[in-house]
Amino acid sequence: MLLIIKKNISSTLVEKLNSYFNLEHINSRVLRMNDSQYLIDIRRATKEEQAIIENVCNNNVEFKNIIEKISFYHNDKYCLTSRKVISEDTIVNIGGHLLGKDNFQIIAGPCAVESLDQMRRTAECLKENNVNLMRGCIYKPRTSPYDFQGIQEAGIEIMLKIKEEFDLAIVSEATSAKRIPSLLQFADCIQIGARNCQNFDLLTDAAQAGKPILFKRGMSTTVEEYLSATEYLLTNGCFDVVLCERGIKTFDNETRNCLDLGAVAALPYKTHLPIITDPSHATGRPELVLPLAKATKVIGAHGVMIETHYNRDLAKCDARQQLTLENFTNLCNELNKI
Ligand code: PEP
Ligand code: MN
Repeated sequence: MLLIIKKNISSTLVEKLNSYFNLEHINSRVLRMNDSQYLIDIRRATKEEQAIIENVCNNNVEFKNIIEKISFYHNDKYCLTSRKVISEDTIVNIGGHLLGKDNFQIIAGPCAVESLDQMRRTAECLKENNVNLMRGCIYKPRTSPYDFQGIQEAGIEIMLKIKEEFDLAIVSEATSAKRIPSLLQFADCIQIGARNCQNFDLLTDAAQAGKPILFKRGMSTTVEEYLSATEYLLTNGCFDVVLCERGIKTFDNETRNCLDLGAVAALPYKTHLPIITDPSHATGRPELVLPLAKATKVIGAHGVMIETHYNRDLAKCDARQQLTLENFTNLCNELNKI
């Protein structure tokens, strides 16, 4: 059972209502949905408890006007993530930049942070194109342990300089919970990569870090499994979640993965969370990034994540799929026309 509280009700009053329930031995807790709204999450309420709750919500002078909606919807696997419970589109604020509803964002940068010079050149290009969100991955989840694992802690200083010089918001991947404290020094948004989509301990720890989360769909994760995994983020206190379709495995190797635009179109019917795509990892082919980025915008999704490198011959990972800065500029111009 969920009580959605009206917007702009003080946390003190919401906590007071929750304490009232707790005094009645009802297992309830307050969750913050966004800057202006809370909900009370009540697990496994008995019939008698439901009667107490409904009575308070309908008749108590102090509380009866603060409830927007009582939701009994209980999909066993997810409810906070569900559009049936929260009908309004979520808008996520990443370092002052809005993503979701009518706000489309481009998130761009190299596959991995390699040097200050590389990130400066990239940041200049992003700024020229009015792109405010930058990929700044210092930890890389690689298929082989012998592949480049990211610049790691040496990247913290680089990313702090980039933020200071260019005032960009940074998205950076947490490959495990122990990486989160380093990321918190500079990242405005924590990315959870496809390989960790169902790493529930990491999802729990990341949600509790207090930053927005860019959450990628696993390459073999169904939409239902993806939404159930997303619920770990919301139930652990993070409602600022951006979903990201980055391609799934299919029988065909024509593209690196298969960008599931059908899922991108279907997700808004199931969830209030914004959804973006990552055409770079989906295709692995730079010439296919622009058409799929355009398609993403046309079908009403809320953004794209694009890999770009000033000299991809020097790139330490995903060299082939990264756009040159010229092609990235062209992509921005083309998307602006839509
Ligand atoms: C990435 O965005 O850096 C990445 C590793 O992508 P994915 O998790 O989608 O493979
Ligand atoms: Mn990559």
